[in-house]
Amino acid sequence: MAQVEMNGILIGEVETKNIMTKSSLPVGGYSVNPYVGCTHGCKYCYASFMKRFTGHTEDWGTFLDIKHWPEIKNPKKYAGQRIVIGSVTDGYLPQEEQFGNTRKLLQQLRGSGADILICTKSDLVVRDIDLLKELGQVTVSWSINTLNEEFKNDMDSAVSIERRLAAMKQVYAAGIRTVCFVSPVFPGITDFEAIFERVKDQCDLFWLENLNLRGGFKKTILDYIAERYPSLVPLYDEIYNHHNLGYFKSLEKKAEEMAKKYDCPFVDNEMPYGRVPQGHPVIVDYFYHEEVRGTGNTGKRNK
Ligand code: SF4
Repeated sequence: MAQVEMNGILIGEVETKNIMTKSSLPVGGYSVNPYVGCTHGCKYCYASFMKRFTGHTEDWGTFLDIKHWPEIKNPKKYAGQRIVIGSVTDGYLPQEEQFGNTRKLLQQLRGSGADILICTKSDLVVRDIDLLKELGQVTVSWSINTLNEEFKNDMDSAVSIERRLAAMKQVYAAGIRTVCFVSPVFPGITDFEAIFERVKDQCDLFWLENLNLRGGFKKTILDYIAERYPSLVPLYDEIYNHHNLGYFKSLEKKAEEMAKKYDCPFVDNEMPYGRVPQGHPVIVDYFYHEEVRGTGNTGKRNK
């Protein structure tokens, strides 16, 4: 297929020798991205750096390459390994409905015994509930950093927060482990306790991660804050230009208090695969997660 434009997105194809790549993420294992590019086009996308390795000159969010890979012949070699689907794309982009790469990948991982983590901002994942149940050890994580649809629309073109919440509920009810990934936490904007109250009965883990402003999008975000939230400019200046982490330290305390209030475990890294009693998700502190990078999933912070 030559490059074609569909709904304003430039769609192409790319061959890859091996769909599974060793991961540098704190959760380890393998990372799998069934597409190149991500049409959610989040303004704060840390993955947009990928663009320079792809030969694309178009804006991040406006192109997508459909990957082709040789079939995974021996899925058992991934037994017990963590496989993250969607670290620099979303496996459930709207285009997945047509191209089905993520479903194909999951089918090839049948019988692998891998610990699969799917990161998404979509509700299309409910299409694959049957397959996820069959795979067994699967976790689905939705990024939700606001309940304000207007702010969400300013930041990404993925489905609404309400649709993400409804999908999480459905997947949780199907007996699959779910995560509410509160990321990135925007200082002065993200109200994580309000989000927690919405999701506590439908997730096993509640991850918190700070907004990092690195590279090209720092200016985009700071300009946005100046325009839409001018009263927050001094706070952002303090954090992102003067590297004062006091604000996030105070949020850590707040998260710890919230954990006590709702009788939830509070840990510095993800717990090993497991389910928790409804209403008491594990609250995972990924603020400054570079500190926990490289640890096993022990639930402890590096010294
Ligand atoms: S969903 Fe993730 S990979 Fe896709 S644009 Fe947003 S932050 Fe980037």
